[in-house]
Parts: sequence; structure tokens; C-alpha cells
Amino acid sequence: EPDPVLVLVSAPTEGESIAGPGFALADPSVPHLDVNDLGAVRGDGVFETIGVIDGHPQALDAHLLRFARSAAQLELPAPRLEVWREAVLAAVDAARSAGTLAVEAGAKTVLTRGVEGTGVATGWVRLSAAPDMSVARRDGVRVITLDRGFPADIAQRAPWLLQGAKTLSYAINMAALRYARSRDADDVIFVSSDGAVLEGPTANVLVRIGDEVITPPTDQAILAGTTQARAFDFFAGRGLRTSERRLGLAELAGADGLWLTSSVRLVVPVTTLDGVACAVDADLTEGLLRHLRTVTD
Ligand code: PLP
Repeated sequence: EPDPVLVLVSAPTEGESIAGPGFALADPSVPHLDVNDLGAVRGDGVFETIGVIDGHPQALDAHLLRFARSAAQLELPAPRLEVWREAVLAAVDAARSAGTLAVEAGAKTVLTRGVEGTGVATGWVRLSAAPDMSVARRDGVRVITLDRGFPADIAQRAPWLLQGAKTLSYAINMAALRYARSRDADDVIFVSSDGAVLEGPTANVLVRIGDEVITPPTDQAILAGTTQARAFDFFAGRGLRTSERRLGLAELAGADGLWLTSSVRLVVPVTTLDGVACAVDADLTEGLLRHLRTVTD
């Protein structure tokens, strides 16, 4: 495992005075975070995970825009996006210079509300090798559906629940994955209390029914996926219709293809849903994987 690269962002948000580039490389083997940082003690912050393939951070601008949208939803100060962009590129350059840049890596950007009482945000970028996803990409994953515990329109009704923001509070998402593993499954698709398909704990859901590829709409308490958007470009190029619309659970059962997408895994086919075999389109999956790997944006 190559060592991760850490970049501390010293001027992470607008309005803070900036000296030099606004970030600096740091030693990843020593601690940097204050124990009173609200990101650590309350999960009060936002993040992005950007796939880095052959040294290219995929969909970097889309990630940075979502980072800013998440920050706005939490009423954090606005991240200074030009500094974050350069910080991500500096992390990749540092790994390349050290000869430790993996073919597939992930760059995580984190912005927290900072140390309690200071009013100064904390920010960093950490680049590390991606886990090996080759088996899941090839053989697919077994998925169970789990109740998300709220209706699909919760984001409009209860904005304080921060649905649709990529916050650091992922304890529930991780618990859902552990629950799946204890039930002999690999992953999860959340379903709203009123029966709408939502997303996975760390992925979006795409389904093909005939010549249409569908993903649930982002006003349904889910994250706007950067990989899902890139996948839709691929499907449209193949002459398939793409749409964002409410999906009932029953529609997944008879589908012609079901996938989970996210930045580091890219795409994995779902082979069983709640123990029932799903149709797997190996050619389409392979084509999509190649597109997500090779098309830079
Ligand atoms: N939904 C959730 C809850 C996620 O955490 C993620 C990514 O980790 C996604 C969807 C997929 O988003 P992206 O494709 O931009 O990585």
C-alpha cells in the first residue's frame, strides 16, 4: 500500500485571509486534527470523494460544485473552490513525484465547522490508493433493500435532516452496510417509507427497463451522483433514453439491469436483490465501466 498524501488547506473558505496558495503538504503519519474539531466530535462538516484514474481526478468540477452545495446546506462558510481544486491537483502531483501514485486512487476533500468557538473552518485533502474493486465490478454484488425510515419528500418537509448533502455523518450509512453483511449481502438499496427507491449508503441506483435507464430524482432525499451523471452520458450515447423519476420497488424486480454507481467503485452490477436473481447485462456493464474509466471530464 503506498503512503497516502495529505494536503492541509489553510484558507478553506471565502473570507479568510490567504497567504500563498492557501494549502500545504503535510506529513500523513502524524496527527493534525484538534480533538475539539466539530467535524470529529459532531460529524459537523461535509466531504467529497473524487476518483483519480491514471492521475486524472474525474469530474473534479462537478465534485467541487457539490462540495459547495453541501456546505451551503449546512450553512458552513463557502469553500474557496479554486484553492480546493489546486490542493487536489497538488496531492496528485506529490504522489506522482514520490512514485506512489496508484492507477486508481481516491482524493477525499473534507471541510468541517472547525474547532469549537473559533469560527474558523478546517479543511484537508487526503489522497490514497483505491481498494481493489475488480471482483465486484466483474462478478457483481448481492443487495438487500432497507427501510430509510422517512418518506421520499422528506428533504422538502424537514430540511434540517440535511438529506441530499454529503455530510460527515455517515454512521448510519456504515451501519446499514454492516447490517447487509450480517445478512449475507454486500450492499444496500434504501427505500423510503412510502415505497420509493432512493440510493445506496455510498452509491446511486440505476435501473434499465427496456430502452430506458432510470435513476431516482435528487429531490427525493438523495445525493446528486457525479458518476450517475457520467453514466447517463454513456447510456444516451448508446441510444438509450435516460430519465430521473420516482421508481417503485416492484419495478426493480422485473428490470433488465440494475447497477450501483459511485466515484471510486465506478459501477457494479447487482446480481441479487433481496435474494432474488437480477438480470445482468455484462456487455452494457463492461462498456459503461470502460467509459467511466477512460473518459476524462
Ligand atoms: N449517494 C451517497 C449517499 C454517496 O455517499 C455517494 C458517494 O459516495 C453517492 C450517492 C455517489 O456519488 P458519486 O457518484 O458522486 O460518488
